[in-house]
Parts: sequence; structure tokens; C-alpha cells
Amino acid sequence: MARADVAAGPTYHIRVFRTARCRVKGRYAYAHYARDRDHAYAIYIAVVQGNGLTALVDTGMVSVEEMNRGAGFLMTEPVSQEPGEDTHSILARVGVEPSNVDLVFLTHCHYDHCSLAPLFADARIVIPERAWRIWHEEPERSAYLHAGFLEYLESRRAAGRLVLRDDGLVAPGLGVRWVGGHSPCSQFVYVNTTKGVAVLTGDAVQMYANLEQNDVIHICERPAERWQALEIARSDADYVIPGHDPRVLECYPDGVIA
Ligand SMILES: [Zn+2]
Repeated sequence: MARADVAAGPTYHIRVFRTARCRVKGRYAYAHYARDRDHAYAIYIAVVQGNGLTALVDTGMVSVEEMNRGAGFLMTEPVSQEPGEDTHSILARVGVEPSNVDLVFLTHCHYDHCSLAPLFADARIVIPERAWRIWHEEPERSAYLHAGFLEYLESRRAAGRLVLRDDGLVAPGLGVRWVGGHSPCSQFVYVNTTKGVAVLTGDAVQMYANLEQNDVIHICERPAERWQALEIARSDADYVIPGHDPRVLECYPDGVIA
């Protein structure tokens, strides 16, 4: 549904920026592939512009130190951020004021992806409706939801600034599809471009190797949904931008995707 509707809409430019990097222990990276070595991870945000709109896919994190306190056990090299890689600097470089961001798509609500969302006070925040239901009806499934984030989203909802959608358009040429697996809030973000429909997969498909090796992520809430996410990526995407793969910046110099 999202794919066909998105493909019929206007096209956008996408630019991906690395906001941090780290190395993740093999057993936490993939379910099977190369568990005996660690893997370089990049943490990204994407700026999407076109059709009179500015959107972000993920926001980056408030504090690298906090990230390492919470998730350091997963890594052989902690998260580090070079000067200019923080979200504020990235946006300043591309001439985007936080107050001019119209939409913030969250691939999921984990700290490294969502915790700067409150910076975008005027934006509509896009998350899956299914996650909203799960967090309220089965709160035991919110284990890794960024602490305090549901309260923040409640306030966004009261302000009419929360979009809850499982599969479909959010704006012409921009859509989402719930995939779950990594977390109940994991969704793919679909962007129409001159090269076809780009699917930004977040942590549900973190690496190109998930597709190339036909292997899934290790960290998950619902194991079977990880495999569905691979299938959806294969069937829906003209091209995939995985959530943490350093190769994105090798394939697309300066992060210019389309
Ligand atoms: Zn992540």
C-alpha cells in the first residue's frame, strides 16, 4: 500500500549524515553471520526535502555519554561523535532550522534514533499506530522504549502533532509501513525519488549484509518479524538505505542519496 502510493507522488531529495559511530560485538549484530568478529556501525539521520516539505528520518541522540551508559555492553568501541556530527551542526550546515522541519519520521523509538525529537517543536512526529496500541495495552513490551518518550509523545498527540500510521502515505510521495521485529515501534520509511522508491529501514534491516547474507539482526522483540522485514524490504524497495551500515556513505559520497 505505502509503496504504490508513494511511487505515484512527487519526488524528494535525500541526504544521509553520520551523527556517530561505534563497533558492535558480533553476537549482538547478526543472528548468525560473522558472530566471531565485531562490526563497524554508523548512526545516521536523513534530511528529506521536496514538494515544499522538509522531513527528517530519525533525530540522533541527546548525549553520547548517555548512549554509552545504556548500551556500552553491546560494543567493543563505544559510540563516538566527531565535531560537526551532532544534529544541530548537521542541520545548520544544510540550512535547516529545527522550527522549519515539517515531519519527523522515527524508524523506531530507541535513544540513538529518537531522543532529539523534542527539538522539533513544530513538526509532526510519525510513529506506527500499532506501537501506540502495544505501549498502552501491553506495556511490558516497551522494554527498550526511550525512557520518558511515551509521555513526550502523549504531549505531541495533545498538541495535534502526532501521526499514527501503520501502512500508507503521510504526505504525497512519503509513507511508512510497520515492520516490528527489532521493536514494536519499528517502521520502514518510504521516500519517492528520481531513482525510484527508497526505503529507509532503520534497525529492522541495519546492514546491507542482512539482505546479502539473508541473515537478520540479533537484537529483537519478536524474532519472526525480523524475517518478514527482510521480505518487505526486498518486495517494496527500489533501493534500501539500512539503518547502521557504514557502506551507505561509501555508496553515496557526502551522503547524497537522491
Ligand atoms: Zn539503532
